[in-house]
Amino acid sequence: MLQIDELAVAYGDVQVLWGISMRVERGEIVTLLGANGAGKTTLLRAISRTVLALSGAIVLDGEHLERARSPRVVELGVAHVPEGRKLWPEMSVEDNVLLGAYPGRARRDARASLEMVYTLFPRVAERRTQMAGTLSGGEQQMVAIARGLMSKPTILMLDEPSLGLAPLIVSEVFATIERIKATGTTVLLVEQNVRQALEIADRGYVIEAGRVMTSGTRDELLASDAIKKAYLGL
Ligand code: ATP
Repeated sequence: MLQIDELAVAYGDVQVLWGISMRVERGEIVTLLGANGAGKTTLLRAISRTVLALSGAIVLDGEHLERARSPRVVELGVAHVPEGRKLWPEMSVEDNVLLGAYPGRARRDARASLEMVYTLFPRVAERRTQMAGTLSGGEQQMVAIARGLMSKPTILMLDEPSLGLAPLIVSEVFATIERIKATGTTVLLVEQNVRQALEIADRGYVIEAGRVMTSGTRDELLASDAIKKAYLGL
């Protein structure tokens, strides 16, 4: 459903992505792995069109995104849950979640989507009237994901959803991602938590210095000596 060919991206004069090619099939969880600064966040930004590509193609269900504007990309079904959650701390949980329903087709269905995300995240439902800033880190992450789902995405891009969370909460976040997959939503997941990301992923790409170094199925990556050494501490 998503195909990226030879994507190059720069911030000013500094090129960060150097010819990235990858694909995501419908219904998969695909994970992007790699050290800090490798360019994973930039790749998500390029897909959601919050940074511009220098060259290359990004095609979603036959539509070229590389010249589309960011709201159009959301309208086409791409949701980007950024690193750091980016909630409005002094707004209620529910108002934060509802903000995700801004594309036209999502706005019409906002009430039904709200029920859907509350079923998926009972804790978010319990806290719906609280100010978002009063929630724990894990709860805020759930709110950020819930907000992403409100746009009714066909592909949900999550940037380091487990960052800064306690191990038990991290496991909850990963379990939630599997439940999202079970609803039919495709997931592109950036993670530092390599082992857990690979456990739930169908396939993965390892990005190093702005290039795809390795890619494969979960089993291939888990069996790779290079991955074991660099990312799994074995
Ligand atoms: P992290 O896990 O730290 O977010 P990453 O793999 O997602 O790492 P990016 O955030 O995409 O990496 O960063 C890739 C490179 O681009 C880094 O060298 C970073 O310093 C640089 N970079 C990121 N954002 C900007 C920006 N807005 N302006 C200039 N340079 C940037």
